[in-house]
Amino acid sequence: MPRWLRTAAIAAAAVIVVLELVLLALALGAPTLVTAARFSTLRADYTALRSFLGRMPKGADLHVHLSGAVYVEDLIGWANAKGLCVRPADFTILAPPCDEKAPPIAQALDPKRQELYDDIVNALSMRFFTPSAATPSRHDQFFATFGRVSAVTWQIVPEMTAERLRHYAADAVQHTELMLTLIHPDYRAKAIKAIENERNFAARLAILKANDLDGAVNDARQMIDGWSTAIDADLGCDAAREKPGCDVSYRYIAQVNRNADEVDVFVQTAFAAALIRVDPRVVGLNFVGPEDFRVAREDYSRHMAMIGLLARDVPVALHAGELWLGLVPPRDLTFHIREAVEVAGARRIGHGVTLAFEGSDTLLKEMREREIAIEVALTSNDVILGVRGKEHPLPAYWAAGVPVVLATDDAGVSRIDLTNEYVRAARDYRFGYRDLKAIARNSLTYSFLSAPEKQAALARFDRSSDEFERTVVAERSVLANMAALIAGLFAR
Ligand SMILES: [Zn+2]
Repeated sequence: MPRWLRTAAIAAAAVIVVLELVLLALALGAPTLVTAARFSTLRADYTALRSFLGRMPKGADLHVHLSGAVYVEDLIGWANAKGLCVRPADFTILAPPCDEKAPPIAQALDPKRQELYDDIVNALSMRFFTPSAATPSRHDQFFATFGRVSAVTWQIVPEMTAERLRHYAADAVQHTELMLTLIHPDYRAKAIKAIENERNFAARLAILKANDLDGAVNDARQMIDGWSTAIDADLGCDAAREKPGCDVSYRYIAQVNRNADEVDVFVQTAFAAALIRVDPRVVGLNFVGPEDFRVAREDYSRHMAMIGLLARDVPVALHAGELWLGLVPPRDLTFHIREAVEVAGARRIGHGVTLAFEGSDTLLKEMREREIAIEVALTSNDVILGVRGKEHPLPAYWAAGVPVVLATDDAGVSRIDLTNEYVRAARDYRFGYRDLKAIARNSLTYSFLSAPEKQAALARFDRSSDEFERTVVAERSVLANMAALIAGLFAR
């Protein structure tokens, strides 16, 4: 047989094999294969990519600061309903009575005052941020927003939660864990006073137990009772729970301000652990606030030891390694993630951006073996730290087999949603559909739900994913799906 004929015969045979494989995949109804192939063909087209990932079931958003998650436009409405004021000097929202220096926020809703409305939205988020002498960096602007809204956010937890649940329903997210402050300020002040002269951790804890720690926990539980009733009412949930948001599960994570006095941090941590032990709606604790601030840096190791002692038996997620070269002295980049894992016993690490500075190989091995999940917040790291693209450790965590989840951190301040984070992962790190699906599933596997709740949540995720994939397959003809499968063989 002439050589050309033999080559042609081999080529023809190869084509037939590929076609048979494609037909077999279709015949077997391999919707995951077809969906993955379709995804790989639309990666370069933002419109198609965004639309695909918007509809794709994304499991849970696990790293969420409730007061930074809601959009300013909603905050203005809630502040107006409470009759609050706004100080034009820096657009901080203040409690009444309003006066000339802080008139009612209602004036921003006057159609003739669009400029004021815009100024408030910009001051309380990253929208159109430009550095100034007063706020020289995106880092500073980001963290400054929280202080400007705190007069309103503590009053509107049910409103904020309900809004997020409605949003998540629309963004194909089925579960979330929301960080917020749960300790009452009166109890907190009283407890700080009770232990302020004691340095020993065990002795401090004994004093707190003898000084109504249980009472403070009960007060918090009653507060959450009130919130859950108000949230259901806000969403209009009935027994069927079919209205938007009613079928999105949520839990709270008790946050501790890591930049408070050391005694205050102890009180907050002891309270959080005690609450988590008795209330299934509060599933973990986390330390929040800038990790680069003086107190957070200087007290870091003592904080980790404190968590290790007070919260060894409850789920802990910790912001650790949300730092970068230049922001802090180099030595601060070398141990935060490791101490959070080894000393504090964190089950999830938020950010972990400093991986490269921590002797990454042994740390990655330890995180993989102990199944410590990494909560990756791509937009937040870009905005606050300026870390993006090739500098970000996401590919290193992924390649090492550490469980990765994607999270929004502060969607309202950053002006994003969870779909956006999936778009970034697909665009900047070339994750394929099956990778993203595994990341979405991880967000339920590494949630702080109880074992039976987790099992049910994963079963629901699998059903939603199957349905999504079948829909993607049904949207195109058999021929178009075959073409996508063939193109998918060569794409990556
Ligand atoms: Zn965070």
